[in-house]
Amino acid sequence: MSERNRDAVASGMAITLPDGACKELTVEWARWEATRHVPTPQPERQAAVDAAAGVCETCRVIDECRELAEVSRYTGLAAGLPYRNGRPGSRSTSGGRWR
Ligand code: SF4
Repeated sequence: MSERNRDAVASGMAITLPDGACKELTVEWARWEATRHVPTPQPERQAAVDAAAGVCETCRVIDECRELAEVSRYTGLAAGLPYRNGRPGSRSTSGGRWR
């Protein structure tokens, strides 16, 4: 996908995502995502990923969110997984720092 098309897709999907189950959880979401930027014990990192994933499991726009995370090269929590530059990581944080 070209950069221009990627931007167009990401822009269009951003209109859909305000319907996401996380829309009222901006403070919590920021806290959960911040656990990967600071030295955080593994159980707390796992709890943050699991909490976000639990919200995503109830979300009616999870498929659109997953696609948006990929095309926009998102880094953070989306669609129940941690992403880095649009690539999904493992839900398990036991392999070290959350990536
Ligand atoms: S799948 Fe998760 S991160 Fe994406 S919009 Fe829904 S609740 Fe938010």
